[in-house]
Amino acid sequence: MPPLAPLPPTLEQTLGGLQTRRMRWLLAVPKLGIVLLLLALFSLLWLLHHNEIEEERNALIKDVLWLEQNLRFHFDGAEEQLQQLASDIAGGHAGKPQFRLRAAHLLKNMPEVGQLLWLDDRQSIVAAEPTARLPDEELAPLGPTATSRGIDTARRFGKPVYGEFFLNSAQQALNELLVPIHKQGQPQGMLIAVFNLEQLLSSQVPWWFTEKYKVDIIDGDDKVLAVKTRIEQTGGQSYEIPLEPPGHGLKLRVTGYRSQENTLQRLLVVAIIILAIGVFWSLWLVRELMQKRSQAEEALRAEHAFRTSMEDSLTVGMRARDLEGKVIYVNPAFCKMTGFASEELVGQQPPMPYWVPEQIDETFAMHQAVLAGRAPPDGFEMMFRRKNEERFHALVYEARLIDGHGQHIGWMASVLDITERKHAEDLARQQQEQLQFTARLVTMGEMASTLAHELNQPLAAIASYNSGCLNLLTHASADPRELKPVLEKIGLQAQRAGKIIRRVHDFVRKSEPRRAPCDLREVVEDCLGFVEAEARKRRIRLSCRQPETLPLIPADRLMLEQVLLNLLRNGMEAMSDTPEALRRLEITVDCGKSEICLGVADQGSGIAPEIRERMFTAFFTTKAEGMGIGLSICRSIIEFHRGRLWAEDNPRSESGTGTIFTFSLPLAAD
Ligand code: ADP
Repeated sequence: MPPLAPLPPTLEQTLGGLQTRRMRWLLAVPKLGIVLLLLALFSLLWLLHHNEIEEERNALIKDVLWLEQNLRFHFDGAEEQLQQLASDIAGGHAGKPQFRLRAAHLLKNMPEVGQLLWLDDRQSIVAAEPTARLPDEELAPLGPTATSRGIDTARRFGKPVYGEFFLNSAQQALNELLVPIHKQGQPQGMLIAVFNLEQLLSSQVPWWFTEKYKVDIIDGDDKVLAVKTRIEQTGGQSYEIPLEPPGHGLKLRVTGYRSQENTLQRLLVVAIIILAIGVFWSLWLVRELMQKRSQAEEALRAEHAFRTSMEDSLTVGMRARDLEGKVIYVNPAFCKMTGFASEELVGQQPPMPYWVPEQIDETFAMHQAVLAGRAPPDGFEMMFRRKNEERFHALVYEARLIDGHGQHIGWMASVLDITERKHAEDLARQQQEQLQFTARLVTMGEMASTLAHELNQPLAAIASYNSGCLNLLTHASADPRELKPVLEKIGLQAQRAGKIIRRVHDFVRKSEPRRAPCDLREVVEDCLGFVEAEARKRRIRLSCRQPETLPLIPADRLMLEQVLLNLLRNGMEAMSDTPEALRRLEITVDCGKSEICLGVADQGSGIAPEIRERMFTAFFTTKAEGMGIGLSICRSIIEFHRGRLWAEDNPRSESGTGTIFTFSLPLAAD
């Protein structure tokens, strides 16, 4: 089987889909905005940070250059002073005592200069301050020392040179400035100033500098020879510059401490992240809320569509009025019923356009009763008119209109057009009457022969009394006093015959049901009179058990007779196969507080369950010549009298089978 093609979406679904898509876009825009804002914020922070680093670097380079220049000035100053001393010695203006004096002065002013030496041309120490020991003396056995190499270089160039740095026995990095002494172009000796690099940094790097940076002097292999710092921990930017003089691969390295502002920046970043999370979270909540709202809207729309379609498909007219009686709503069915459009009815005050002018007073009175809350709870019937002036019967049920807050805001009516039903009911009533009449005719036909037989009796009696009288009259000695009782008897028999004929006449005559105080005993008596002859023929014993007196009940006597006759006849027919000795039909009348019950018990065939269910329906019969309308009419008649008719098995039956048909009638008319 090929797969089923998916159903095309309905207009509602399409609209719903569009709505959802639009909602998703609406929700995505602020999210995108937040992401862009965050990107901008982080970029700004990064730029600031970058600028800060740049500025820091610039400041560092400026400070390093300043320091390097400072150190150069210092070295240049020392070099100048030594050259002056060398020229004084060469000129003979300075002997050993002057040397010592000036050396002491220089050492005092330049704490980084640890020793000042004066060597003669053979490299022997002429004078020295504070000690006369060569600074790298202990390194001499290892070969040419830094001092000796420096002396050679200075002599070769004939101008001041800086020697290579070296470490003394105390592992202090030292460096020498060697200034040759010349006299008329002839080398006369050498002045040597020994610089302690550690001391150099400590005296020449100002305190504010070490507040910001760590300063190192390193060699070409990055080995630290001297250092000045306030704290050990660094982490900031670093800048290196060759330290010239003295040169020889020495470098000045300045490193910034880790900046404290970073903490503040980090706090700011954390705050931004937390805020961003907060914003996202609240967006999420808003999204959920919006989703719930859209779901609720969807449900509401579906509910509304469902209600509208329900309203449109209702065949019952609905009309709502406010507490003043103004129409506030009518449904399509009501409009269809009355022929007026909703706009023509909504907002209308009494008299309404669908009211019948000739019944305006009754309609208005009912309208007032409804507004006063006195509308009949079981509904009421009204005559309304359509727009085309056509009249129709309406069944109206009024109920309170309660709003969502439990407030009574008006009246809601459901209106049914019952014109058709009324016609159908009328027709059914007419047919029922016709049926009853036919049933009576049938009953009468069946009894015609019995009645003829009954009439025979009084007629025969009259005839025999008559011939007796005639016989008497033929005798001259006849006493007229003897004739009187005979004639009276003739009269009586004639009355009886007349009564029988009138009864038949009454029974057959079609008339409207008339309820009048009626004695059930008379009904029983009459019926027994009717069926007596047939019972005799069928060899059935009739018995009757009833109270001496019975209260009068409001009933149509003829109708009750028809019921009882039907039950008696059915009972007799049911006993056609019963042994003759057991053929007994018993009428029992019981009077209760509120009703009288009359039962007809037979010992006939009894009723099978499947028959029991259907026997009260019209035209159901099991008899070959039966019409099947007897019990149906009996039930209608009893129900017309507000009573009940039912059948049950006869428990006292001697034949083992049998039925009791009972009807009850209320004592008082309602
Ligand atoms: P009909 O007598 O013309 O058949 P009824 O409506 O009076 O129509 O009765 C319907 C059916 O109910 C009968 O055909 C019969 O089968 C059953 N019935 C009525 N009365 C009795 C009774 N007393 N005992 C047994 N069956 C009965």
